[in-house]
Amino acid sequence: MLGKLTGFDDTIVALATAPGVGAIAVIRLSGKAAFAICNSLFPAKDLLQQPSHTLHFGSIVSAGKVIDEVVVSLYKGPRSYTGEDVIEISCHGSPYIQQQIIDACVNAGARLAKPGEFTQRAFLNGKLDLTQAESVADLIASNSAASHQTAMQQMRGGFSRELKALREQLITFSALIELELDFSQEDVEFADRTRLYNLVTEAMLVLRHLIDSFRMGNVIKNGVNTAIVGKPNAGKSTLLNTLLNENRAIVSDIAGTTRDTIEEILNIQGILFRLIDTAGIRESADSIESIGVQKTMEKIKEAGVVVYLFDVNELTATDIRNQMADFENAQVNYLLVGNKSDVLGEAAASAKFSDFPEILFISAKNHAHIEDLKDQLVHKVLSGDVNTEHTIITNARHHAALQEVLESLQEVKQGMDNGLSGDLLSLDIRRCLHYLGEITGEVTNEDRLDYIFSKFCIGK
Ligand code: GDP
Repeated sequence: MLGKLTGFDDTIVALATAPGVGAIAVIRLSGKAAFAICNSLFPAKDLLQQPSHTLHFGSIVSAGKVIDEVVVSLYKGPRSYTGEDVIEISCHGSPYIQQQIIDACVNAGARLAKPGEFTQRAFLNGKLDLTQAESVADLIASNSAASHQTAMQQMRGGFSRELKALREQLITFSALIELELDFSQEDVEFADRTRLYNLVTEAMLVLRHLIDSFRMGNVIKNGVNTAIVGKPNAGKSTLLNTLLNENRAIVSDIAGTTRDTIEEILNIQGILFRLIDTAGIRESADSIESIGVQKTMEKIKEAGVVVYLFDVNELTATDIRNQMADFENAQVNYLLVGNKSDVLGEAAASAKFSDFPEILFISAKNHAHIEDLKDQLVHKVLSGDVNTEHTIITNARHHAALQEVLESLQEVKQGMDNGLSGDLLSLDIRRCLHYLGEITGEVTNEDRLDYIFSKFCIGK
């Protein structure tokens, strides 16, 4: 596989830290010539004679000019991130210096790395499997406790271990079944059908759990679109501000002034809620407001959860009943929240809407029951069972491949139920093995790899 990849023999260089000014920047070199290239720019000592995993202080000198004083870290392959010889040059964090050192490395024979190329090499050298490599990108992008934990768990190989075990067992069965084919005249059965059947049934159960976890995984990784909707003056902007604890949206006593959709992000118990404040859901003759109303309906459709906020003093039980019918027709995942309960009083509000025990009464202005609202939001999007200790699928590619694996297992099972002959059964098992291998990268092609790694940042 390695030979087919172009540019794999090159020594690559890239900035590993974020671009821009910083105290320190790290420039990374990987490949056969990494030591020689760095050595040609580092007169202080002969790096080729130094042991691996050591640090060396000195100057980077190019074309007779001292560029910077740096610390060089040496990692001899295979004990490095990529599995190749790797050098990391820690220099002062000026973009000018960074560029000068990278240019000097290129002049000395290195090539600029493509996005994700370091991690791609780590994968190709067997340092990481494909799911682990992908989780490196997720780990870098993680922006909440929950997304960090799922990426970390995946990088440590939790998810691929389960799949590899299944793949190995299936390989054994397919080998045994294929052996039977060689003895087809003699009517022998090497592969224990009952054990295969049990394995397939168990594996299907595990796969269903993994596939189901994707919805939650998606919420954890990407956050959930949250629309706060309601009539003008219900208190949406006030609630948004209370939730965000800052005053970005326009709060006003004039009905319908929040005309734009404003996106803010809220981190509740590690889940990111992308809050979209919208103009009220209301028929309006005013054309600008109509655009707002139309946007609201679009947002509702794309929202993972909708907070329907209403003024308990204004609306009646009938209004709520009609609103609920609308949401249910449109299959919206909604939360009913009665605002301004400070004016009516909580007891009177509960009595007025006694038909709807699910309504949460709050006062956005007085910050009353806002914590309850946050709990209910989390509950709504995770159906109450968030356990990031378990394997959670966050990657759409894995999700699609797992569905293919499940389908092919279903076919194996059906085939066995129908007494399918060994050769056909073995075909179904092979199909299943193919999809399993695609997930962890045992079966893959160059285009697919390029696509996966192109989503990384440069330097990783
Ligand atoms: P929006 O049109 O839905 O965004 O509503 P606003 O957030 O602009 O609020 C409309 C008015 O209701 C403002 O004067 C708010 O101060 C007031 N308001 C909002 N929440 C509460 C509340 O919980 N209690 C009371 N008494 N007034 C509120």
